[in-house]
Amino acid sequence: MELIVATQNQGKLKEIRRVLADAGIEVEGMDAFPQLVPAVEDGLTFAENARKKALAIVEQTGKPCLADDSGLEVAALNGRPGVHSARYAGALATDADNNALLLKELAEIDEQQRQAAFCCVMALCTPDGHCRLFEGRLEGRILTEPQGDGGFGYDPLFWVEAFGCSLAEVSLEDKNSISHRGAALRQLLAAIEGR
Ligand code: IMP
Repeated sequence: MELIVATQNQGKLKEIRRVLADAGIEVEGMDAFPQLVPAVEDGLTFAENARKKALAIVEQTGKPCLADDSGLEVAALNGRPGVHSARYAGALATDADNNALLLKELAEIDEQQRQAAFCCVMALCTPDGHCRLFEGRLEGRILTEPQGDGGFGYDPLFWVEAFGCSLAEVSLEDKNSISHRGAALRQLLAAIEGR
């Protein structure tokens, strides 16, 4: 089975590919189809954006498509950056820009008040316009400086109690075993396999 994933984010793609490969599902990202036009991500929720992204590619290809919309919710920032996580520091922001802004906004917040969660909603949409949604969440805490150079996005700032280190310091397999994306993917697999 082959599945198009509506993402240009190589970090996400690597994690999704690893979980689905183990189930015999081959994954292609949007970089393999340069003619495809991505959806505008102007939804107010992860679910809305995930559906939009998947349906845009379904309409252009006539094939089933999977999309991931995810982000970081920081309690002390009233849930920000949330759905704006990729563009937190501006439309062309890099991961480093976003991480720098997050540290700046949390500069006055002490360790006990730095709770955060990664959220992920995946939409699997078919050419009949039907979508199934799968959600995952990972609780953690925002560090005061980056730790580790693995992963992507906010991983170097996200402390995971269960591992005793940041998400940028664990293997792809370990991240997938506890992450918001891993949890959503396991639900997706269970639904596909009829479990
Ligand atoms: P999206 O393409 O709008 O779903 O953007 C998701 C953004 O949320 C990414 O660009 C990252 O900044 C952040 N994000 C989502 N999942 C992760 C993760 O697993 N690790 C680190 N950052 C993440």
